[in-house]
Amino acid sequence: MYKYTKLIFDADNTLFDFDRAEEHALIKTLKHFEMPVPEGLVEFYRGINVPLWQQLDAKTITIQELKQKRAEQLFTFVGKRADFHAFSHQYLNELANQPVLLPTVEATLDQLSPHCEMAIITNGLSQVQNTRFAQSSIQHHFKTLVISEEVGMSKPDPEIFAHTCELMQWSNPGEVLMVGDNYHADIQGAANFGMRTCWFNLRQVDHAFKEHHYEIRVFDELLGLM
Ligand SMILES: [Mg+2]
Repeated sequence: MYKYTKLIFDADNTLFDFDRAEEHALIKTLKHFEMPVPEGLVEFYRGINVPLWQQLDAKTITIQELKQKRAEQLFTFVGKRADFHAFSHQYLNELANQPVLLPTVEATLDQLSPHCEMAIITNGLSQVQNTRFAQSSIQHHFKTLVISEEVGMSKPDPEIFAHTCELMQWSNPGEVLMVGDNYHADIQGAANFGMRTCWFNLRQVDHAFKEHHYEIRVFDELLGLM
């Protein structure tokens, strides 16, 4: 018998290799608009994208503002402009078509699936998450995919964890294990709602975090907790 049979996963950089998908999608989109791909592009893009997502999480900007600011800064960097709506749409389409999983994810979920009920909560965008999920080889394992843009709440808000438990008909959050790479959104969010937590320390960094119950550095280490 497994110790945990109710599992929630984050999507990006927990199940899916978002860093690689982002890099491929960005380069393909620039080429589509016949824009140059300068040296240092990916580093620049992450440098602008991460703070914008933090502002979105803090609700100081909207998703539309995020898309616009991101595109405008990128156009300045590459030295060529396009219509930002068209650019953004193309980029998200490319991103949606990159269902690349992180190592050991597929085999681990295959093992867990007969014993566990599983859900996903993601703060990503609908256009990307739905398409990518539908194309992925792991979708049949999950009963529900909760997307922040669709439900109007996002991690770390306790409501999104509560909403997911309701959908899954789980009455006791203390029996649920949340697995994710984002310490604030995934781990602190779930812990505040009374869930058990497993931090996926994907980048294998040293840290002094203390609020998680478990830590894994490779996805299949999850099996050892069960
Ligand atoms: Mg993540």
